[in-house]
Amino acid sequence: MLSPSATSTLAAATHGSGQGSALVGLSGELAATAHTIAQAAVVALIVTGVAAFYLLTCLVWPFGKCRRCHGEGKFKSPLGSAYRHCGRCRGSGLRLRLGRHVVNHIRATRGAGTNTVSKGNKK
Ligand SMILES: [Zn+2]
Repeated sequence: MLSPSATSTLAAATHGSGQGSALVGLSGELAATAHTIAQAAVVALIVTGVAAFYLLTCLVWPFGKCRRCHGEGKFKSPLGSAYRHCGRCRGSGLRLRLGRHVVNHIRATRGAGTNTVSKGNKK
């Protein structure tokens, strides 16, 4: 936190020839700062909104096409009808989307926070 006097000194120093223009410079800088903060807030709001929307879509549609086999789940041999399963998606052709990993992580973290022994599959 800058005290008003320190701010006006700073403004006067910034704006050079201070012939009583310290006050104008101060208000101008304050306006500029407020403008920048407002812009940053809007950007942050948009980013948060887009991220929330993306996570929501990952909640409803958790899978995308596997990138290696393009959703086929298998690679066909050029000879005959032979094929092999895609190793990346193990033949499912599905890929868990990045946002779903985040959702899963959040869920796991929240579950750990509730301190309940829910699954009991520890060996
Ligand atoms: Zn695949």
